[in-house]
Amino acid sequence: MSEARDACGVAGFYSKTLPAARHLYFALFALQHRGQESSGITTSDGKKLHTHKQMGLVTQVFTQANLDNLPGTLGIGHDRYSTSGTSNDANAQPFVIKSALGKIAVAHNGNLTNYESLRTRLRDAGAKMSDEQHSDSALIARLLGFLIDTKKAGNLEEAVEIAFNDYILGSFSLVIMNKDTLIGLRDRNGLRPLCIGNVKNEATIIASETCAIKTLEGHTEREINPGEMVVINAKGTHSKQLAPADPKLCVFEFVYTARPDSELYGQSVYEVRKNFGRQLAREYVPDADIVMPVPDSSIPAALGYAEESGISFEEGLVKSRYVHRTFIEPDPNIRLNKVRLKFATLDHVLRKKRVIVIDDSIVRSTTSKEVVAMLKRAGAAEVHFLIASPPIRFPDFYGIDIPQPADLIANQMDIEEFAEYIGAESVHYLSLAGMYKSIGVTGDMVCSSCFTGEYPVYPEQLDELKLSGQVASAKKLVRDTAKQIS
Ligand code: 5GP
Ligand code: MG
Repeated sequence: MSEARDACGVAGFYSKTLPAARHLYFALFALQHRGQESSGITTSDGKKLHTHKQMGLVTQVFTQANLDNLPGTLGIGHDRYSTSGTSNDANAQPFVIKSALGKIAVAHNGNLTNYESLRTRLRDAGAKMSDEQHSDSALIARLLGFLIDTKKAGNLEEAVEIAFNDYILGSFSLVIMNKDTLIGLRDRNGLRPLCIGNVKNEATIIASETCAIKTLEGHTEREINPGEMVVINAKGTHSKQLAPADPKLCVFEFVYTARPDSELYGQSVYEVRKNFGRQLAREYVPDADIVMPVPDSSIPAALGYAEESGISFEEGLVKSRYVHRTFIEPDPNIRLNKVRLKFATLDHVLRKKRVIVIDDSIVRSTTSKEVVAMLKRAGAAEVHFLIASPPIRFPDFYGIDIPQPADLIANQMDIEEFAEYIGAESVHYLSLAGMYKSIGVTGDMVCSSCFTGEYPVYPEQLDELKLSGQVASAKKLVRDTAKQIS
C-alpha cells in the first residue's frame, strides 16, 4: 500500500474569547502518544487562516513565536503518526486548500478505504489535484473544495454532508474549518474516537481523546456519535446525525492506542486494561515468582494480572523517558537497537526468578524477542510471555499501523514455535472472548479486524492484497496471500 496511513490525534477549538493556538498546543501535547511524526495547527482570525506545521514532536514544532503567529479564537490541530516511506513534510496536517468560498483546513484521524477510486473519480470530474501528495487526508480537503467550487455545495457544512453521504468511506474522525466555522465529523462506525467538551463554558473543544480536554481543565460532555456532524459557529452549536450510528470503535484503542487516563465508551481505558490482565490470569497462570509489565503500555494489565493471580507485581524493566515509540522504525536492525535503548533491566529483581512478563500486543515480535533475551541475560530462571490481547493476524485498514499479513509473527509460526523463537518458557495470548468480556462489549460493538479478519467497511486495499472480504481460515488465507504478494 502506497498511501499514507495515519493513526493520529486531532483537536478543534472554537471560542469567542480564548486564543485557539495556545489551547490547541496543549491539546496536541496531550495527544502526542497518537502520533510523533509531525504536528500542525491552523487558526482563523476571522478573515484569514494561519498555519504552522512541521516534522517533529509538538514541543519541537512550536515555539512561542510560532504560536504568536497563529492569531484567532478558532482553530484545528493534528499530531501525525505514519508508517515507513511516507515520512515527509508534505504529509503534515492540517491540510489547507483554497476554494471559491475561501480556505478550508482539514485534520484527519483514520484511513479512507476507497482512496484510489475516489481519487480517480475526482480527477475524472476535473477536480484540482496535487500529485505530490498521496494522502487520503489531503484528498478529503480537495473533495470539499471541489464540492464548493462546482456549486454542488453552497457552504462548508453542505460540502461535508455531501462528502459523507456520497463520497468518503472508511474510518474518519475529522475536524474541519474555514474562517468562521468548526466542524467535527465521525464515520458511521466511529472507528476512531472523537469527543466534545467545553473549557469554562467559554470554548468548545473537539478532540480524539478525553485526556486532551482534561489537560485544558475542560469538561468532556460526550463522545461525538458515529455518523454525527457537529457544526460550531457564531450562530451556536448544532448537530446532525448524517447516518444511523453503527458503533464499531477500533478495539486496539483499548489495547494500546489510547492514553490510560482517557475514557472510551464511557469507560476508563486504565480499568479496561486492568480487566485484560485479570482475565488473562483467569485463562493462564504458569508457576512463577513475579509478574512484570513491558512498560508503559502494559502496566495496568500486569497490575490486574497480579491482583487476580496473587503473584507479586515487580518492575523488571525500567523504561527510558527519552525514547519514543519504536514501532515505526522501518529498518528492523534499528528497531532492535531501539528496544535495547528503551529498556534497562533491574537485574537484582530478575535474578533466579521465574518471571511472567506481560505486553499489550505482539505485532512483528521485535519487542518480545528482545525483552526475553534481556530478562534472561539479567539472570531470570524462566520467562513466560503473556499478551493482553489476541494474536494479530490481519492488516488494519482503518488507521493503525499494522503491516502486511506476512510480516505478522502470528502468521509465521504457531504458539510453541513462537515461544521457542523468542526463547520463552511459554507464551499465552488473551482470548478474543476474554477481551470482549473485559471491555464489557459483544464482538459486534467493536472493530476487531486485526484479530478476526472481519472488516466492517470493505477496504479496497483488500483487493490490492488479493484477500477475500470475509475470512474463514486465517492462517491458510494469510499464507496464500503471502505467496501471492511475494
Ligand atoms: P512488535 O515489537 O511485536 O512488532 O510490536 C509490539 C509492541 O509494539 C508492543 O510492545 C506494543 O506496545 C507496541 N505497539 C503495538 N501496536 C503499536 C502501534 O500501533 N504503534 C506503536 N508505536 N507501537 C505499537
Ligand atoms: Mg510496548
